Amino acid sequence: MGSSAGGASGFDVVVVGAGPAGATAAYLLARDGFRVLLVERGRGAGSKTLYGGRVYAGPLREVWPGLDREAPVHRWVKVERLAVVEGERGLTLEYRTPRACSFTVYLPELVRWMVGKAVEAGAVFVDEVRVDSLIVEDGRVRGIRAGPDRVYADVVVDAEGVNRLLLERAGIVEPLKAWRAPVALGVKEVIKLGEKVITERFGLDDDRTGAAWIVMGDVTGGLPGGGFVYTFKDTVSLGIVLRLGEAYREAGRPPLETGPYVLVERLRMHPLLRGFLAGGDVVEYGARLTIEGGLAFMPEHLAYDGLVIVGDAAGFILNTGYTVRGVDYAVYSAKLAAEAIRKSLEAGDTSAEALRLYERLVKKSFIYEELKRHWASLKLMAEWRLTRRYSEAILQAASKLFEAEYTHPTPWRATREALREKGLTLPGAVKTLARVVRGL
Ligand SMILES: Cc1cc2nc3c(=O)[nH]c(=O)nc-3n(C[C@H](O)[C@H](O)[C@H](O)COP(=O)(O)OP(=O)(O)OC[C@H]3O[C@@H](n4cnc5c(N)ncnc54)[C@H](O)[C@@H]3O)c2cc1C
Repeated sequence: MGSSAGGASGFDVVVVGAGPAGATAAYLLARDGFRVLLVERGRGAGSKTLYGGRVYAGPLREVWPGLDREAPVHRWVKVERLAVVEGERGLTLEYRTPRACSFTVYLPELVRWMVGKAVEAGAVFVDEVRVDSLIVEDGRVRGIRAGPDRVYADVVVDAEGVNRLLLERAGIVEPLKAWRAPVALGVKEVIKLGEKVITERFGLDDDRTGAAWIVMGDVTGGLPGGGFVYTFKDTVSLGIVLRLGEAYREAGRPPLETGPYVLVERLRMHPLLRGFLAGGDVVEYGARLTIEGGLAFMPEHLAYDGLVIVGDAAGFILNTGYTVRGVDYAVYSAKLAAEAIRKSLEAGDTSAEALRLYERLVKKSFIYEELKRHWASLKLMAEWRLTRRYSEAILQAASKLFEAEYTHPTPWRATREALREKGLTLPGAVKTLARVVRGL
């Protein structure tokens, strides 16, 4: 990567990180005719990305009208399963619908497709370059530094993801202390099973229909977290997410000694899932940090002089326990950022004040609304001991109802007894449920 000074020889915008957020910002700004450089440390677009498996289509369609026809979609999710497990027992709630709002996709394939569009629109994409720091002069971000190279631009878009070292080095956010911050460790496996096998075993209508399965309760060896399963074309992605902060407080030490890969294997072997996955080959595995509780992770501002922060780096993730939304938030935040950057560049004013149009757009958008609305359920999930007791009580009640020899209780009595046996009360349960349902 050569050095360049701003003005005529430089770029209007430099985007750091070719994940969904960076690729979207680069595409939209290049399409608007700006000179855009997109820099990625991995080899090829999307090579460093790792996630669970499903993306909500609505926000993406606003940016990529050709999504349904052209994107490398695997399956459209029309079956949702929510399971609670304790020991060998499991209770599953299933929802089926003819209308799919989300799809499964390999994130590297999706990002490659997006970056291809950005390059077609005129963006310059450079891979295998790790940006070391932002160039800050007179309190203003003026470009990026990568080894001996410097690139100047009017605006830098920080799309570096959850591990936001550039923002830390620039003093914009505090260094990440994994055991204290609202972050979680995701560990996953990809299991090859074959297209027909997946369609049949998961009870799907055809090879384009998919299932998403969230697993709560005792899937993480007693540590705070949960599990997920997503069906792809001919593979299944399966993994766990460990909430590091709570796990640390729970165990009084870093929880990694438990061996996250062992926990994924345990989930794969659980009676709830083993039949679905039997005979499959593990073809891939990986781990990555993710955010729990986006609002707590959000920097003080989303824009500074010459700098805009999008996607995970800005804290835009929502994990409610039954939905995980990060990719669509990354794309949509980049769309809002591109809008503000375009206006700032056209007006020749890329000060914090001008770029904070982006912050105002985010605060009026569904992203911010959703992060605020679900804050209560996120806080409830953080009360790990309490949620565990509820999941134990749910399985206890189910066992009273279904494991009947001669007599069995009414659902009302089974619920009351199960709650009492787990040290919970009915009014307490109603109050907790109200917190989740009303989102207070
Ligand atoms: C286990 C797990 C499961 C998940 N499941 C889902 C799911 O099912 N659905 C969903 O929507 N979301 C899910 N997410 C969240 C989703 O992956 C993120 O929200 C999304 O990838 C954020 O996009 P981004 O572009 O902001 O960041 P990223 O995807 O993290 O991309 C950042 C890019 O920046 C590059 N980069 C970083 N630093 C530098 C540097 N200094 N120089 C150059 N390049 C750099 C990285 O290599 C990377 O390519 C999950 C996350 C995890 C960890």
